[in-house]
Amino acid sequence: MSTKIAVVGAGPTGLTLALMAQKQGHEVVIYEASQKPDPRPRAVMVHARALEILASLDLAKNFINRGLMTPGIDFIRSDGARFTMDFSSLETSYAGILNIPQPEIEEILATAFLQRGGVIHRNSVVTAFQQKSQSVMFDVSRDGTTSHIEANWLFGCDGAHSTIRNLIGASFDGDTIDHEYILGEGERKTPGAPDVSSMLISETGVVSWLPFKDGTVRVAGPGRGVSLNQIGQHSTDSSERAIELFYAEQNQLIFSPQYLIGRIIRAGLYRVHKRIASNWGYGRVWLAGDAAHLHPPAGGQALNLGLSDAEAIAMRLTTSSGIGFETYELERRPIVKATIEEVSMLPLIAAMREASSDTEFVKIEKALSLKAHRLSQIDTNFLAGDADCLGNRDDKELKTGRRLNEKIDLMDAINAPPGWKFASVGEHNYWVHADRHVRKKSPQSDTTFSATGILSNKETVSWE
Ligand SMILES: Cc1cc2nc3c(=O)[nH]c(=O)nc-3n(C[C@H](O)[C@H](O)[C@H](O)COP(=O)(O)OP(=O)(O)OC[C@H]3O[C@@H](n4cnc5c(N)ncnc54)[C@H](O)[C@@H]3O)c2cc1C
Repeated sequence: MSTKIAVVGAGPTGLTLALMAQKQGHEVVIYEASQKPDPRPRAVMVHARALEILASLDLAKNFINRGLMTPGIDFIRSDGARFTMDFSSLETSYAGILNIPQPEIEEILATAFLQRGGVIHRNSVVTAFQQKSQSVMFDVSRDGTTSHIEANWLFGCDGAHSTIRNLIGASFDGDTIDHEYILGEGERKTPGAPDVSSMLISETGVVSWLPFKDGTVRVAGPGRGVSLNQIGQHSTDSSERAIELFYAEQNQLIFSPQYLIGRIIRAGLYRVHKRIASNWGYGRVWLAGDAAHLHPPAGGQALNLGLSDAEAIAMRLTTSSGIGFETYELERRPIVKATIEEVSMLPLIAAMREASSDTEFVKIEKALSLKAHRLSQIDTNFLAGDADCLGNRDDKELKTGRRLNEKIDLMDAINAPPGWKFASVGEHNYWVHADRHVRKKSPQSDTTFSATGILSNKETVSWE
């Protein structure tokens, strides 16, 4: 049955959710407050799990064609010592990090949604809602006129200052980090720096160097000596003052001239928050993306988590997928919380600064390898707690809560509850949902989940 779905916000989370719900055959309308897409430089890194989600929408190739796929992140000390966080050996078809500016991400998603028959009402601000038993009424304000609209579901993908979060009555608990984040995007001063994402570790701070496909780069880091008061606001514009501050910062923090930006195209200063909403929704109204959680920019996780929220919601929109909205926040909150902890690189950076022996280098590389696995978000383990819910494959065993990697074919199963898929690996059957996470595991001989017939893709098995 087609369901009317209203999405508040045409950012990456709202657009991805809209595309997924549209693919399931629902009627989806996005309401977006701004008149035009947001041109500000924000997210850059798209990780493997997000690319898998985009692949399920037939969009991964569009992203890869527009972005720069990098194998990992090099951490470089001023004495030339180098540590690599390697993403290239992850168990996924998208082993690496795709660098692509957020305005391009939104453009690709919005274009696909519109081409596939979706509707985006711009200049339309959602201001209120009221839940009924099977639907939700909400108000949309446009040019001074308010319309009352009914939908079956309302999803608040309306960003850090979410109106829907306020209407739900949720608080946004957490911290604002006391240093600012400064970034500049522009042309390289001198050719020579490789097309590899890097973190430059100097005595006074850490700066990231993120190359783009067109040859330009982003240089960003904690604004060491910069106060927001110096530009009067937390602005993301390219005012002369912000540009001047950016040049001052990069001159202080970058120790090798090949990593300098010569001509700035955009510069900005941001406040960095880590916050999680106290309540992600109820009934027919739910939050996703920045509306539900905010993250420091290290590790490039926030946008990626929004896409996984979208997937988790979409999975619950399929009729009797076996998973309801009562588990949505329960499933996502621990992951988001653990990610906030995971992106703190300070202990590792401190260890990198100090490291001198081979043993210390090996220990750091091992820690970086685990971090790459977790930051890629490919292996979320719903049954684990703390950082382990972000995935740890040391034991190589596929357990309930782990995911089947992209290369394993999923099959349909006759009589299986809608939404369930089946895969057979070794001596076991694995029952999974669209997100490829194992929800049930059984021996192939188990009559509860016995497979009759056929283990090739597209053929069917029985669910007994
Ligand atoms: C400097 C910086 C660097 C970053 N780097 C990274 C990175 O490398 N990797 C990463 O993953 N993330 C990064 N992020 C975070 C990333 O930009 C956000 O996580 C992402 O934009 C969140 O997407 P969203 O769709 O949830 O929210 P948003 O992109 O904020 O979109 C929300 C939309 O809702 C609209 N809206 C708001 N209220 C209403 C309303 N009442 N009615 C209708 N519409 C409304 C807004 O206009 C907006 O378009 C970075 C952020 C910053 C600031």
